[in-house]
Amino acid sequence: MLPRFTYARATSIDNALAILDDRPAMIHAGGTDLLGCLRDGIFSADTVVSLSAIQELDGIRSAADGSIRIGAMTSIADIATDASIARRYEALAQAAAVVASPQLRNQGTLGGNLCQKPRCWYYRSDLDCLRKGGEKCFAYEGENQYHCIFGGDLCYIVHPSDIAPALAALGAVCRISGPASSRSVAIESFLVPATEDPKRETVLEVDEIVTEIVLPPAGSGLRSSYRKVRERGAWDFAIAGVALAIVFDGDMVKSADVFLSGAAPIPWRATGVEAAITGKKLDAATIAKAASACIEGAEPLAKNGYKLPLFEGLVTEQLEAIRGKD
Ligand SMILES: Cc1cc2nc3c(=O)[nH]c(=O)nc-3n(C[C@H](O)[C@H](O)[C@H](O)COP(=O)(O)OP(=O)(O)OC[C@H]3O[C@@H](n4cnc5c(N)ncnc54)[C@H](O)[C@@H]3O)c2cc1C
Repeated sequence: MLPRFTYARATSIDNALAILDDRPAMIHAGGTDLLGCLRDGIFSADTVVSLSAIQELDGIRSAADGSIRIGAMTSIADIATDASIARRYEALAQAAAVVASPQLRNQGTLGGNLCQKPRCWYYRSDLDCLRKGGEKCFAYEGENQYHCIFGGDLCYIVHPSDIAPALAALGAVCRISGPASSRSVAIESFLVPATEDPKRETVLEVDEIVTEIVLPPAGSGLRSSYRKVRERGAWDFAIAGVALAIVFDGDMVKSADVFLSGAAPIPWRATGVEAAITGKKLDAATIAKAASACIEGAEPLAKNGYKLPLFEGLVTEQLEAIRGKD
């Protein structure tokens, strides 16, 4: 049963910040993750602040400099179906389209997707795991088939978002408002590695709100894509996924940003893949090197070694597809 809490419907960003400044509270966006966590006692909240009445947090806007600004309350469905995003930032459109189910994409928001809590079954159980203030990560020696192969050490979750790796590859920036000021943080730095602090997922302070995501102008030669493998054909989280944003000069790779999902507690930058393809044509030998580089340094747990060939296959498939695009 959902526990009792005070519900406040903020009328503006300033009003939401004033409520957060006044007392500890949790943000309610679409509620698709928050309400389940409260119901299951993963954490508690005395006050819940809804952002749903704040018009300026909703919508996708093109700016004069070619950038795109997406309000934090924009639904995932709107991102998946927006024509300008599909044309300029394919990876983002593709990632949004494979999030959960149509109902969850309609109700779930961009801000909520980035700030959602881990899906680890130990974290979501009654157990007091390290991330919830306990002594240890139960996945390390437990049922770890869906856990990380990179960046574990203290806590072995994988970051659940499909959208975060796509935004990271595209160089997106998160705009954050707090009581005294606003700040901008690259998506890559917005999510906190488990090795840095296994008790927090983002750099947000308790009195801060994500207001929008800014995508830099899509320069000429940019091609991007996102693909994930899931256990079930219907809605499911990624067990392995790859987001690519590659700038081509003719058929040469001028620059590459590659992030893995289902791999680590944060979207994992695949530096080996980036190095293997930058300055090269995507021929068969280069793609084979990139696929091997993708899993260099991986430290699979007892039950998730199957992810390694999945990542190699995804990198191969994605690079072969992207080199063939106009
Ligand atoms: C069955 C199921 C399957 C799913 N499958 C996938 C999947 O395949 N891929 C995927 O990426 N996701 C998946 N999800 C997660 C889903 O995308 C999230 O539940 C959703 O994006 C959360 O959005 P929301 O607006 O409902 O957030 P809420 O539930 O309202 O909030 C989630 C968290 O974010 C915080 N928050 C929300 N907005 C802000 C903000 N603007 N500023 C600061 N903090 C904020 C809240 O306080 C809360 O802690 C799945 C979820 C479910 C329930």
